[in-house]
Amino acid sequence: MSKLCPSAQPGMDNCTIIGLVQPEGSAVKLAYLNERVAATPELLAMAAPVAPTEVFRLSATCAEHKCPHFDGSDCQLAKRVVTLLPAAVESLPRCTIRKECRWYSQEGPKACQRCPELTTVSFDISPDMQEVSGLPVFHEATAAR
Ligand code: SF4
Repeated sequence: MSKLCPSAQPGMDNCTIIGLVQPEGSAVKLAYLNERVAATPELLAMAAPVAPTEVFRLSATCAEHKCPHFDGSDCQLAKRVVTLLPAAVESLPRCTIRKECRWYSQEGPKACQRCPELTTVSFDISPDMQEVSGLPVFHEATAAR
């Protein structure tokens, strides 16, 4: 059975809303929905003027080889999340996709303990978050040369 990506983009196959991104101080906390809601264009448009992924956390069928994070067997993004980020919560959030979630099936409870503080779109350009996202890390010391 295909796995679900828990950090999907609008337009991906089988796209549903699994949570709402809630600001919490300078961070965010995901409010997980009790049921999956189809990510219709009408619902996603309600996020305007910001991007849907700033308001909604989306799940969709994992794109596997079409996704830059997939190495042929694993999601490297999930691996970086559990390796580089501290746990945000102790107990696992109530989540509607756990049985099908790629991150959970690959990394287990550690993925869920970090999941509530993650957003699909991030404006955090700190070196730590660049490393988690898989972007090239910008080192000031190198750039100064
Ligand atoms: S809480 Fe766990 S099962 Fe649910 S989307 Fe996040 S990583 Fe997947």
